[in-house]
Amino acid sequence: MNDVVICLFASAGFDKAAQGLAGAGRRLADELGGRLRAVVIGAGADTLALEFSRLCDTVIIADQAELAEYQPETCLNALVRLCGELSPRTVLLGNDAYSQEIAPRLAYRLGGSAVGDGVEVRVEGEALRVSRQVYGGKAQAVIELKRMPAVVWLRARSFAPAPARAEAGEVTRAALDIQADTRTRVIERKREEQGEARLEEARVIVSGGRGIGGPEPFTTELQPLADLLGAQMAASRAACDAGWVPPTWQVGQTGKKVTPDLYLAIAITGASQHMAGISEAKTISAINTDPDAPIFKHCQFGIVEDYRKVVPLLREKLAALQK
Ligand SMILES: Cc1cc2nc3c(=O)[nH]c(=O)nc-3n(C[C@H](O)[C@H](O)[C@H](O)COP(=O)(O)OP(=O)(O)OC[C@H]3O[C@@H](n4cnc5c(N)ncnc54)[C@H](O)[C@@H]3O)c2cc1C
Repeated sequence: MNDVVICLFASAGFDKAAQGLAGAGRRLADELGGRLRAVVIGAGADTLALEFSRLCDTVIIADQAELAEYQPETCLNALVRLCGELSPRTVLLGNDAYSQEIAPRLAYRLGGSAVGDGVEVRVEGEALRVSRQVYGGKAQAVIELKRMPAVVWLRARSFAPAPARAEAGEVTRAALDIQADTRTRVIERKREEQGEARLEEARVIVSGGRGIGGPEPFTTELQPLADLLGAQMAASRAACDAGWVPPTWQVGQTGKKVTPDLYLAIAITGASQHMAGISEAKTISAINTDPDAPIFKHCQFGIVEDYRKVVPLLREKLAALQK
């Protein structure tokens, strides 16, 4: 009953977010005096299960044909069954789209409670307390989850990874025999065109806004800068909505929540909805022509200037440093 279950989709792989999830799970399980169990769903679950057996006490593979690819209802039914049988105190999920979608529904079906975007999870007496950023990172809300199991999805890179165990945990295969439930169905999948790492895991991000003026400068001005910095590219909603860059680049309240060491906001005004996605960035820098742009209230370094003057200079300096 004091166990912690982490739910993983095999397609997400063994990235920093997944390792952080195991880290959060391990610390919570230790606090509760319970075991850390992992449930791995989908095709290729075996490989991921092996990785997680070094971090968890037990790993359960759910990879029957109906679960090979993510389908919301079928996956939910499988997780309800598995978590119901394991009867944990807490269920933790990552911040990928599948986890965010499934977490509140899973909590409801298990008769528990849910919260998303947690940056800290701890036990306080009988309750579980989850901290999350609110008002674009200006304040932190602490939410007490009284109904168990507490189902929480966590922000990537906010949690230290779990240490590897001396002995690998037990790996078992669930005999679920889940039927395909097609009330809602994923009818098309488009693979995100991006570098190796997920935006949520990037250490350095170069992000452009509407002030960039069109799609071309993202390729000709910002991308070469990102390459020099070893950064990933992102954008404001205005730039994504304009169709200049893919929607998957969007950072903010309705986009991705990122936690880089450096977030370089170029021609982004810094609306609260954008800031909601970068409140956990260690350093924010901005280039903007408007000295009164709200982004300057949030950044550690700022340049009031046309980005078309600054970015080429930055590239030149960085290239010289790398020689
Ligand atoms: C419910 C809701 C959810 C939302 N979710 C999100 C979200 O997830 N993410 C998000 O980003 N937004 C979100 N928004 C939209 C948000 O309110 C802003 O409209 C949006 O962030 C503005 O994008 P922007 O800063 O790129 O554009 P603008 O507000 O148009 O700002 C452009 C900036 O570029 C500067 N600029 C112009 N030319 C140059 C130049 N040559 N060099 C340097 N600077 C220049 C300008 O001074 C200005 O500050 C949401 C809004 C709502 C209502």
